[in-house]
Amino acid sequence: ERLIEFKGVTKEYRIGDVQIQALNGVDFSISSGEFVVILGTSGAGKSTILNILGGMDTATSGRVFVGGQDITSFNEKKLTEYRAQKVGFVFQFYNLIQNLNALENVEFAAEVCKNHLDAKEILQKVGLQHRIKNFPSQLSGGEQQRVAIARAVAKNPLLLLCDEPTGALDYVTGKSVLKLLQDVNRETKKCVVVVTHNTAIASMADTVIRVKSGRIDSVARNHHKQNVE
Ligand code: ADP
Ligand code: ADP
Repeated sequence: ERLIEFKGVTKEYRIGDVQIQALNGVDFSISSGEFVVILGTSGAGKSTILNILGGMDTATSGRVFVGGQDITSFNEKKLTEYRAQKVGFVFQFYNLIQNLNALENVEFAAEVCKNHLDAKEILQKVGLQHRIKNFPSQLSGGEQQRVAIARAVAKNPLLLLCDEPTGALDYVTGKSVLKLLQDVNRETKKCVVVVTHNTAIASMADTVIRVKSGRIDSVARNHHKQNVE
């Protein structure tokens, strides 16, 4: 079943007289339940694709369908609701609220969602039951990213979008975060999309989408998907 479809998506940024063509006719589709890795070098357009998919940015032209709905037709109010209800976002630098503890960070995001899950339970699942009262500054990078993943999962969203989720972590910690994302994908059957420049991460994907200069370079199905050990 098709969950996401990009059709001829372009994105132009204008800074004064300078025009930047960030995306130049992007087409691809993703089925529900897939673990997708979007690969490309810096500046290729990966984050722009993810931000448009997550309703954080809008396309200049083209269509983006998510769960059968054309999100490019949404007005600001519908887009805000889509972002809040349907999308869980995981960022490179965690983006936790510094004056809320781990539990409050997860609850704060989940509360606004109609079908949200129990914050404590999700924090337990990501292995942080002993850290729920800690503030972000009292947590390691890996632990903060686990809180961020718990926050995204607790919303019970349609999509989990991750922008360089291991980019600020050391190798071993990064691996454990990827393993957690793989477990989430398997247990919840939710579609997980990871944007990265790190080719090593491609081995754990069902589908690898390569982006180059604002275009799709290739879409490859991974028949020998690997477990993160
Ligand atoms: P990637 O995530 O692959 O590194 P991005 O999607 O961030 O690439 O960027 C694609 C292109 O669009 C780059 O040339 C970048 O400089 C440009 N770009 C991204 N965001 C903006 C913005 N807000 N304003 C102007 N240009 C931008
Ligand atoms: P380093 O430069 O630190 O040696 P790599 O560039 O090899 O690390 O890998 C960086 C990231 O890629 C790490 O966050 C790691 O978790 C992830 N990674 C490496 N190998 C794999 C793999 N086989 N499957 C999934 N993720 C991997």
